[in-house]
Amino acid sequence: MLHHDFPCTSEISRKFHTPFLSDLYTDLMAEQDRIDQLEQRIDQLTALVASLLPESNLASDASSGEEGPEPVEDEGVTEDDISMAATRGGPTAQEFAAYFDGFDFPNFSGGEITPYFSRTRGGVSNSVPPKHLWPNFIQTVVVLQHLRQVLGRPITLASTYRSPDYNRAVGGASQSEHVKFRAIDFQVSGLLPAQVAQVLRSLRGKVFLNPATNKSFTFRGGIGVYATFVHVDTRPNESNWVG
Ligand SMILES: [Zn+2]
Repeated sequence: MLHHDFPCTSEISRKFHTPFLSDLYTDLMAEQDRIDQLEQRIDQLTALVASLLPESNLASDASSGEEGPEPVEDEGVTEDDISMAATRGGPTAQEFAAYFDGFDFPNFSGGEITPYFSRTRGGVSNSVPPKHLWPNFIQTVVVLQHLRQVLGRPITLASTYRSPDYNRAVGGASQSEHVKFRAIDFQVSGLLPAQVAQVLRSLRGKVFLNPATNKSFTFRGGIGVYATFVHVDTRPNESNWVG
């Protein structure tokens, strides 16, 4: 703000007919501006600290967590992995992508989801999820699509389905929602995981329609905050944790 342009200055000058008082008044207004700015900054920092503090209802037992130490860091995908995933007798990644794209989510496509099905870790390959689990995933994406619209920022999907073997290989929890294809680990550009989780928790109690089943559901779900990503799933009960 340009302090010397403060609109009251000339009025004060006229009133007191003295440049000295006018200068003092200008200085005073400048100080007031600085105080206002500092107060604004304190509000911003207070909000940031509040979003970073774990909530009192966060689960403390490790069993409610979902991930191994670094679930996002998987080994690369090779052409061999992709052909293997397609020759197991189950559905192919392409079939899943076509199914997913049929729901016309504005901000998510099948093509960004399927590469994860071919991930490997310690020689164990992930796989394309069985068809009966596909509607579970659509349910969670419905919530994520809503979050995407609330935040107005791009969301990057990091981890979705894990086969039971692959889940063990990455150190996931034995009852992981990822094995049920109902969990997504994701990142939001420009926001801290704790900030994203705070907004996500505010969506609890909201009723959504799952277009895959044509049934409505109330979002409660699991929300996990990790150093570099957020976990969300649509289990019927609430669960919170910090990983
Ligand atoms: Zn997860």
